[in-house]
Amino acid sequence: MSRTQFRRYGKETVDYIADYLETIHKRRVVPAIEPGYLKDLIPGEAPNRPDSFESVMDDFEKLIMPGVTHWQHPRFHAYFPAGNSFPSILADMLSDALGCAACPAMTELELIMLDWFGKMIGLPKEFLPLTEGGKGGGVIQSSASECNFVSLLAARFEVMKELRQRFPFVEEGLLLSKLIAYCSKEAHSSVEKACMIGMVKLRILETDSKYRLRGETLRNAIQEDRNLGLIPFYVSTTLGTTSCCSFDVLSEIGPVCEENELWLHVDAAYSGSAMICPEFRYLLNGIEYAMSFNTNPNKWMLINFDCSTMWVRDRFKLTQALVVDPLYLQHSWMDKSIDYRHWGIPLSRRFRSLKLWFVIRMYGVEGLQKYIREHVRLAKRMESLLRADSNFEIVNDVVMGLVCFRMRESDEMNQKLLMRLNSSGRIHMVPASLSERFVIRFCVCAENACDKDIDTAYEIICQSAQQILRENAK
Ligand code: PLP
Repeated sequence: MSRTQFRRYGKETVDYIADYLETIHKRRVVPAIEPGYLKDLIPGEAPNRPDSFESVMDDFEKLIMPGVTHWQHPRFHAYFPAGNSFPSILADMLSDALGCAACPAMTELELIMLDWFGKMIGLPKEFLPLTEGGKGGGVIQSSASECNFVSLLAARFEVMKELRQRFPFVEEGLLLSKLIAYCSKEAHSSVEKACMIGMVKLRILETDSKYRLRGETLRNAIQEDRNLGLIPFYVSTTLGTTSCCSFDVLSEIGPVCEENELWLHVDAAYSGSAMICPEFRYLLNGIEYAMSFNTNPNKWMLINFDCSTMWVRDRFKLTQALVVDPLYLQHSWMDKSIDYRHWGIPLSRRFRSLKLWFVIRMYGVEGLQKYIREHVRLAKRMESLLRADSNFEIVNDVVMGLVCFRMRESDEMNQKLLMRLNSSGRIHMVPASLSERFVIRFCVCAENACDKDIDTAYEIICQSAQQILRENAK
């Protein structure tokens, strides 16, 4: 493609994107295709000769779009929001154009953005990268799953270092086999995956009636495991669990970790961005005990995937677990600047801080607070509508943008309701299991969601439920 063609097609593509997002509500939320649909529509071999942009775009519309789930659709209420905004898209375009895997501006902007954002959400200054004389630090990873894994690797390295000193003649594999990590039943599955890949045992703990991990539960588990000769070393807590947006009680768990010298990680993948609103900061009580913390601006802060921010209290404890330093990667600034290649698994990195910079500057903290508060208000609106309807019950504490509900009927009836709603293509939600019961999660996701969207969603849910109840009564 020539530069002239790029100018033309680039402008056309921006128009296409703007049109797509403007008319997205007219589409089905989820595609009506069968798995494998694309195989028969795309040739089995790559083309030998170049194809035109027009023909590729034509096929994009004809072949790809029918298989797309529209995460930005106003009736998409599954999972958590997939961040998206025009400033973020434009910043990603620039990042793609620069196409660099590392450079001074990228490192420095990332440091500054992690400092800005850390301050915006009220993290203690010990975590902030630019605190004078501090050991803290922040980094952008691709995903919360990666943050969970990397924090586990850092904790494992730290405990193994100490164990090797204490037991110099004991085989490392034996020491590793004694390590045990903890999380609650409601922690994200990525914690289990991190332990599986990290080859450490994981004990999954019960929560209280509000789906929160409590300090006493952790304390008892640690004692039991020590009695069995195991070595507790890591706890992954969650602020805003995936199933129901519950909040582990950090202020109780923190002191238990401190007494037992455990690495406390806090996964706030969804809810962390909401801490830019001071009224939610009470949920961070106990953060002073944490060694590491992560949140995804690419969920709830209008940043496009990927952008998962992670802070550590002691950056040297993170990097010591990840440094490998071949000659070809050394450079003359190594003693003057940090090197993000030692902060995670990939070597090459995208210029992801650019979209944080664009979005924070172009919305302002006030604009972002307004967006979060509006989502919370809309979730409360849905909660009230469902509470006023005797066919439904609310199952979680609606603190942020997630409402978990079910019909006051059997699990089978609720499964039927969700299946009917999702297969209609008019709305999309996913289930969770809470207290062994099937619940439906309704999350406010679209950037410009409004009262009408919530009322329409409620109408769709309510009508389907009534239809199922009528069918059942026959
Ligand atoms: N942690 C929590 C609490 C989550 O809710 C999620 C996803 O929703 C994840 C981790 C995984 O996020 P990612 O897709 O960024 O790996």
